[in-house]
Amino acid sequence: MPPTDQPPSEEPSLVIENCAIATMDGVGTEHASGHLVIAGNRLLAVGPGPAPASYRARAARLLDATGQLATPGLVNTHHHFYQWLTRGLAQNAHLFDWLVALYPVWSRIDEAMVGTAARASLAMMARGGVTTAFDHHYVFPRGAGDLLGAEVRAARELGVRFMAARGSMDLGASAGGLPPDFAVETTEAALAATEEAVVTHHDPAPDAMLRIVVAPCSPFSVTTELLRESAALARRLGVRLHTHGSETVEEEAFCHERFGMGPTAYFEDTGWLGSDVWMAHCVHMSDADIAAFARTGTGVAHCPSSNARLAAGIARVPDLLAAGVPVGLGVDGTASNESGELHTELRNAVLVNRLGPWRERALTARQALRLATAGGAEVLGRQAEIGSLTPGRLADVVLWRLDGLGHSTIEDPVAALVLGPPAPVALSLVNGVPIVEDGVLRTADEAEIAATARAEARRLAQRAADA
Ligand SMILES: [Zn+2]
Repeated sequence: MPPTDQPPSEEPSLVIENCAIATMDGVGTEHASGHLVIAGNRLLAVGPGPAPASYRARAARLLDATGQLATPGLVNTHHHFYQWLTRGLAQNAHLFDWLVALYPVWSRIDEAMVGTAARASLAMMARGGVTTAFDHHYVFPRGAGDLLGAEVRAARELGVRFMAARGSMDLGASAGGLPPDFAVETTEAALAATEEAVVTHHDPAPDAMLRIVVAPCSPFSVTTELLRESAALARRLGVRLHTHGSETVEEEAFCHERFGMGPTAYFEDTGWLGSDVWMAHCVHMSDADIAAFARTGTGVAHCPSSNARLAAGIARVPDLLAAGVPVGLGVDGTASNESGELHTELRNAVLVNRLGPWRERALTARQALRLATAGGAEVLGRQAEIGSLTPGRLADVVLWRLDGLGHSTIEDPVAALVLGPPAPVALSLVNGVPIVEDGVLRTADEAEIAATARAEARRLAQRAADA
């Protein structure tokens, strides 16, 4: 796919040499030893062998990356940052019981807590090679402060490219929904706040560091009216749509009972299938559901760890890919995936799908890396900007150290990265700017974030206990 912009004319700011390169471009180009040339926030050149002498001579910084693998920065397509404060709870529950246990705690969050949870979630992902992060925030208690603003500030501080959802819930228990009434907003308030979030924060520029997504939470926490109106609002404002779909058998039963159809038919009926939409999970999909996603270009955020943690099931990823459905990876909220880093999903995407009917033919290590990079970029509608190491694309690049104890005997660098233990990040660039070097976060103090997060988690637990 051609880049959106012409290659930059600036002087090379960074030349990287002697690393293996998995470009994740359209034909899967790899180099056993190659070079990358970066100018400002864009890739100027990628190829085998040393960099051309003219670039080497003019480079502001020359980096010898022997023993390392360069890949596009990882893209996380589903998360709930605030859940960093409620990890390790309801350990043995399925989705609906887990939600019912946690809603009362979540509804006591405030701006300081959400800001801290966002910093922790972003730091955890960044040190594991994520350069673009999406967050689906949908809990907005009255008087809690500017929750979305707190997330935006955190992403700006950490330097991670950010897609933020203004999510919503308006279907409380008294109206037949799953969340308690005190955890939901009115339909009108949710729509007004969503529009305000887009107007305030959304940047449509091709190298944007911040975009807003319209994202009502799920079929069992949102009215049909809010789903329909959210789709109309997003299309009027030119932004993307996201929600949870087809996650569990309980959700499927809920949709059949309440709407007389399964989740995918319900989404189609409410205007929620399209190339501007992606959904988290999509575990319980029939052949017809998959064909509907493929026909409309609707994307999927595959979250294998969360699906296992909540006993939801195994998504049919090989069938989705065979049908041409765009698929990315997501950690999901860290109350249902305490790991919080994307390598877990990279590895589990391969392993979990091999437990399904496709067995050893389910997914290769390279397909998994593609989901975490180019696939994620496509799901977020940003495939012309990020997700592959192609000249003209944005300089979101990760160098993984593969010469240490954990990886040194795996000859194939992609297999080492995907199947081996989490690889240390030697360098992570977002928009050409280093955010991690030698395994250390450069934009914030990890120890301070850990201490602050622990204090805020205890404050939230206390507030919930006092309620
Ligand atoms: Zn989720």
